[in-house]
Amino acid sequence: MDLTFEEFRDSLASRSRRAKVLKRDGRHFFVLISQQFSKEELDNLCDTATAIRRLDRHVDGREYLRALLRGARIMNLFAQPSTRTAESFVAAADKLGAHSRLVSDIRTSSFSKGESVEDSVRTLSSFFDGIVARHPDDDFGIRAAWALSKTQRTIPVISAGSGKSQHVTQSLLDFYTLRYSLAAKGGVDGKTVMIVGDIARNRAGRSLAYLLTKFDSPTIHFVSPRAHAPDDQLLEYIRGHDIEVHVHHAIKPLLESHGESIDAMYMTRLQQEWDKGNVAGQPSTEQKLGTADDFILHHDYRKFIRPDCVLMHPLPRVNELPDEWEEHPGFVVWRQVRNGMWIRAAVFATVFGADEEIRDRGKRLGLM
Ligand code: ASP
Repeated sequence: MDLTFEEFRDSLASRSRRAKVLKRDGRHFFVLISQQFSKEELDNLCDTATAIRRLDRHVDGREYLRALLRGARIMNLFAQPSTRTAESFVAAADKLGAHSRLVSDIRTSSFSKGESVEDSVRTLSSFFDGIVARHPDDDFGIRAAWALSKTQRTIPVISAGSGKSQHVTQSLLDFYTLRYSLAAKGGVDGKTVMIVGDIARNRAGRSLAYLLTKFDSPTIHFVSPRAHAPDDQLLEYIRGHDIEVHVHHAIKPLLESHGESIDAMYMTRLQQEWDKGNVAGQPSTEQKLGTADDFILHHDYRKFIRPDCVLMHPLPRVNELPDEWEEHPGFVVWRQVRNGMWIRAAVFATVFGADEEIRDRGKRLGLM
């Protein structure tokens, strides 16, 4: 396959061309954007995560899991701040017996000497069997995958957050959590989801919105500052899937009029690290963080919503989701964190071809 970088990147926009560049032998090999998963593949991923979670409860299940990727080496390259995501990838690899290395200080890597993405990832592919990457550049993961797809030693690339554009594994864990939380009500189909934050530069909210397009007639309410409202590309994509989508600029009026109809709320912080004057993707230490009242879910708004409304946040939170909400029956934020590890283990299992076996074993043992 001899595509230019632009051809490779543009092919991600079309379902059939995307599969050709992101899959190997029918399985996802490069995990870069939420749109790449079909509904059936999402269900398989969730079932794999559940099987891993349940197998991990018992000594023999744990031993079985830890033998699956024994000897595999994963490079976690984090060029932007992360605690949760980086550690959850490390813990996920550990569950399957793979060895992880975490490089989070990019100043100690050759990037700081001006090395190209292409050379860096080719070098890493000599020592590692998979790369997990977080980078302020929207296209970093795509460029890494493109560069590797042209080499003899192609290894999987999993994005752990690409600039302002997408955070695919976050959306997978969000979906896993949402699917579980809404299971008794028929799942995600037809549900109303509110996504709050700087949507134009909030990769977690954007990836979740892309993922929701896989379901039957959900309704999406975005609530964002005017300056960072959802971009046309995202809105057109959603509308192109016959999904009802609305854009608002304050939480309170929306909850006053529609609070009862909302099944899930996805709160995010304002992404001030991208504000003018900051070095791309790095927060300033002097900046006053998280102050805009219209995007805070004040605790007295609970009178507008149903007690079963699912309350999510990708974390870190600043002041937009006060602690009092932890008492709310639908608060699942800490479950999301834990699910991050299980779904990332399922992603590793998928790209390395161990997922079917895990699901089969889970079924055979009556765990699912
Ligand atoms: N942890 C998420 C991310 O890396 C959300 C956030 O930082 O606000 O995008």
